[in-house]
Amino acid sequence: MNKSSQYNINKVMSAVKSVGTKPAVIVRRGLWARGIRYRLNHKRLPGHPDLVLRKYRTCIFVNGCFWHGHHVEPDKMESTKCCRIPMTNHDFWVAKIRRNKERDREEQRKLAEMGWHCITVWECELKPSKREETLESIAFTLNHLWLQDHCAKSVSYPEREEEVQMPMAAEG
Ligand SMILES: [Zn+2]
Repeated sequence: MNKSSQYNINKVMSAVKSVGTKPAVIVRRGLWARGIRYRLNHKRLPGHPDLVLRKYRTCIFVNGCFWHGHHVEPDKMESTKCCRIPMTNHDFWVAKIRRNKERDREEQRKLAEMGWHCITVWECELKPSKREETLESIAFTLNHLWLQDHCAKSVSYPEREEEVQMPMAAEG
């Protein structure tokens, strides 16, 4: 199957079941519209981030509030407005959500070790009333990270004036 027929099938399928746009798609479209380019979930990176932005050395995860236990404190594991843990099979759900949260943390730790920044976007932050604000703030964060990375590498100020006057002497 070639790429364009796959694309058409995806298009038809998403038209059939489109009740609402998937949160990851909202982020992709929103960033694309702001001129930010990315790759889709990169299989070789820990946690398969939803968006991989090489230029910004950043991975973005778009998390469902229930599955990833938004605002749920790991040592308490109590329901929150975002994540209502069912009373039926309560222990099962607590264990499951706790595991997901631990995995998220572990994967982001690995990515950080590999030199990636991570941004987590929560489903509730993409509600129509909050969406634009959230996308703006992601774009702002990305630009900030980019500047931070690039300024840190290229600019180093000499500590004393003598060093400015004798640059040749310092080079071996
Ligand atoms: Zn939430």
